[in-house]
Amino acid sequence: MIDTLIFDVDGTLAETEEVHRLAFNRAFSDFGLSWVWDEALYLDLLAVTGGKERIGQYLSRETDKGPVTTEAIAALHKRKTEIYTRMVAEGEIALRPGIAEFLARARERGLTLAIATTTTPANVEALLLATLGAQWRDVFPVVVAGDMVSRKKPAPDVYVLALRLLGKPAENCVAIEDSRNGVLSALAAGLRVIAVRSAFSDSDFTGASVKLDDCAGLSLELLENLA
Ligand SMILES: [Mg+2]
Repeated sequence: MIDTLIFDVDGTLAETEEVHRLAFNRAFSDFGLSWVWDEALYLDLLAVTGGKERIGQYLSRETDKGPVTTEAIAALHKRKTEIYTRMVAEGEIALRPGIAEFLARARERGLTLAIATTTTPANVEALLLATLGAQWRDVFPVVVAGDMVSRKKPAPDVYVLALRLLGKPAENCVAIEDSRNGVLSALAAGLRVIAVRSAFSDSDFTGASVKLDDCAGLSLELLENLA
């Protein structure tokens, strides 16, 4: 029986990627760097999950930008997170249409809700505080984020840790994801997946049990059909 829903954050709960991109660019500028990530480049870099990893991927392609130390990347990423969380706190991002209603209905039904994401805990907290208010910790009692695991999506580690903290077997849980890496991560942890297209989605959702074009399509009836 499905009694737990585990959500990805970026792209799934909210369309965050454009604000992430702007925050990266502002951090680069603050550090006196002339790096600019335009939309096309960012779409490419999204193939790599995790902010520090994304900067590393950029530098591995732009060999004239290096060498940059791990410490410098961490400092840049810390600054980017400060900028991103301030933008989110100022209300620049809303939950995707249909998400608030779906979360409310799932809670009414007694389902457990959790988060499994490669974004930082600070980013998750800023987004959920701004959109759900201080009660967000009651809405999502288990949050696995950022550097709590060493291998990010598409590795199964975030989902494996979420299952352990929830004390649930994979067959009781469904993952909700918007990216190929996210779908692969959840599948590798043994979960069934509902894939929802987002602004930056890659189109390959192979292996997902359900594929939706928008979050308004999320419903408890979908879960009954999966069970
Ligand atoms: Mg995502």
